[in-house]
Amino acid sequence: IEESEKFRIEYWELEEAKLRRMPEAKPLATRVALVTGAGSGIGKAIAHRLVAEGACVIVADIDAQNAASVARELGGSDQAIAVTVDVTSEEQIVEAFRAGALAFGGVDLVVNNAGISISKPLLETSARDWDLQHDIMARGSFLVSREAARMMRTQNLGGDIVYIASKNAVFAGPNNIAYSAAKADQTHQVRLLAAELGEHGIRVNGINPDGVVRGSGIFASGWGAQRAATYGIEEEKLGEFYAQRTLLKREVLPEHVANAVFALTGGDLTHTTGLHVPVDAGVAAAFLR
Ligand code: NAD
Repeated sequence: IEESEKFRIEYWELEEAKLRRMPEAKPLATRVALVTGAGSGIGKAIAHRLVAEGACVIVADIDAQNAASVARELGGSDQAIAVTVDVTSEEQIVEAFRAGALAFGGVDLVVNNAGISISKPLLETSARDWDLQHDIMARGSFLVSREAARMMRTQNLGGDIVYIASKNAVFAGPNNIAYSAAKADQTHQVRLLAAELGEHGIRVNGINPDGVVRGSGIFASGWGAQRAATYGIEEEKLGEFYAQRTLLKREVLPEHVANAVFALTGGDLTHTTGLHVPVDAGVAAAFLR
């Protein structure tokens, strides 16, 4: 057996031994999470849940005011800090992770949640609409995950990356080609990163929510009115409309998405990676109408 081959085998044995020593799951009370888009809606609910479970959270959002107010709600600098970050900027992402490391010693849980929604039919969707949607959700989450992987691999303690994708990543909804395509890109990032990072104890999973109307900035700023017009209903009835088309007849709220983040990162799903969890009260399971 050649020297180089021997070295390769020894190296792998060492790596595998390290992986075996790595805990399968760490309690959330020992963890530091960075949640993008945590200044509002689903991201804010996720930040609340993680802090309630004892984690420290970096509330990362392009909206400085909202990020600061959520960090305050979460108890201030002992458990949460606010960082202003535009996920289209590599420099700002690096800074956000650096701020997390300075405040809490490192980051081992990342939630790619920041997003916008440009909801238009094909012929009204401009190249700029496409680029903006993909810059924030597809490229932005790639950049955040890359920085997360860099930090987690350096720490060598494993970690979790969660993508808040969408039911629209899998099923074609009306009039939102740019949004849905960017969400589909995110769901494939989940598989690719799960494959590449698994050997470092880093799990990567996705969550596909159905329409979360209440508390969502995306719905409040135009998407809700647009969806209601598409379905021919009043905007105030949208939550109920979504609930009625689910198998459980229940509306999906931001807390329900936060519950799934907990299940994947702090619950018993210790051997799950590369998965997409629907949080949609059953919409994706059956075609009712
Ligand atoms: P929201 O508008 O309440 O939250 C989105 C947050 O992302 C905001 O705080 C916003 O400031 C932030 N953000 C936007 N652009 C950013 C950027 N460039 N850099 C950093 N932060 C940025 O909306 P929400 O409904 O809570 O959506 C959160 C995520 O959940 C999105 O990715 C959305 O696509 C996804 N999602 C939402 C629904 C829904 O029905 N609401 C369903 C499926 C998936």
